[in-house]
Amino acid sequence: MFAERINRIQPSATLEMTAKAADLRSKGLDVINLSVGEPDFNTPKNIIEAAKKAMDSGFTKYTPGPGILDLRKAITKKLKRDNDLDYDYNEIIVSCGGKHSLYNACQVLFEKNDEVIIFSPYWVSFPDFVSVTGAKPVFVKTNSKKQYEPDFNDLNSKITSSTKGIIINSPSNPTGGVWSNQAIKKTLEISKKHDLWVFSDECYEQLTYDDIFTSIATLTDDQKKILTFQSCSKTYAMTGWRIGYTAGNKNIIKAMSKLQGQSTSCPNSIAQHAAMEALIGNQDFVSEMRNVFKKRRKLIVEGLNQIPNINCDNPGGAFYVFPNIEYYINKNYKGKKIKTAADLSMILLQEKLIVTVAGDSFGANNYLRLSYAASENDINNALEKMKELLLKIK
Ligand code: PLP
Repeated sequence: MFAERINRIQPSATLEMTAKAADLRSKGLDVINLSVGEPDFNTPKNIIEAAKKAMDSGFTKYTPGPGILDLRKAITKKLKRDNDLDYDYNEIIVSCGGKHSLYNACQVLFEKNDEVIIFSPYWVSFPDFVSVTGAKPVFVKTNSKKQYEPDFNDLNSKITSSTKGIIINSPSNPTGGVWSNQAIKKTLEISKKHDLWVFSDECYEQLTYDDIFTSIATLTDDQKKILTFQSCSKTYAMTGWRIGYTAGNKNIIKAMSKLQGQSTSCPNSIAQHAAMEALIGNQDFVSEMRNVFKKRRKLIVEGLNQIPNINCDNPGGAFYVFPNIEYYINKNYKGKKIKTAADLSMILLQEKLIVTVAGDSFGANNYLRLSYAASENDINNALEKMKELLLKIK
């Protein structure tokens, strides 16, 4: 009944867990949700005011397909201010979130018989963005002890004459890993040698805790085949406003605009006005949020490592930790064998009402993803309850 392309993709595991948590909450249960992929902060007031003003001023109509000119210009200023990137407004397209930006770019560049490199563990949507185009996602191993930087031997062995692109996501969802500039430069050299399109998903660019973030395109003189994706979602707690953007080669941007024009027409007009304020208005919120996340990272990493047989590396960014739970696989809880991380995630949910996401959905079977976009109180409670439960697994 359905077109073949829809069978090539899976529902988003993270959105499914969020829905499950909401469902349990609606039944009055006291759920601790560590599955969330969005800041637990409200959108700053100045941004909300800008949206209200936009509505009162009549900015409630269609906008140009790739976004309002003033917003595209604001993005060029933001890219210069924060990332030292030089782009012209016609090298920018605004879309309905970073997700939509990445989706559009995959549609424009990839097709059947192409292969696209994705580093594993990966954000759940990358393989599906690629598969839906008919291209094949090819997974490359990373090193968990080095912020999930590429295993370069594996990378070199996976590139073929069909490889057309490579997707980098640092800071990463799900691991929180932040690659060193050295690892990025090496990846860019390999990509250039094989003439690959490089996608840099930088939606967590403002959330690094140990080093200042470096945008990938600044690490090479040859930016022709680099597309940079950023978003208002995580930086300004604007996940529901759906504003993300792509910077890159103007012909690609034009092709993406053509596709967007025939799908969503344009991003939401009110949200675009809000995004303008977000990007060039007062930036204090961003550092305040970053400081809170940094404190919580310490709390959760230390707490997890105090639980017997859990191993959690200290991720450099985003708001996720990715503890290794391998020890608990093939052990028993209440007489039932835990076969996968998904089984363990389900036990945590059923027995302790803690919502996590199993590593299986990110291509990493022996891990759980925990988000620390949750209060310190929730994090402390979750750690205590997890410990209680895990000690009962034999
Ligand atoms: N890229 C990564 C790695 C993400 O984790 C997300 C959201 O979770 C996105 C992109 C897309 O975010 P948005 O579409 O809200 O900008």
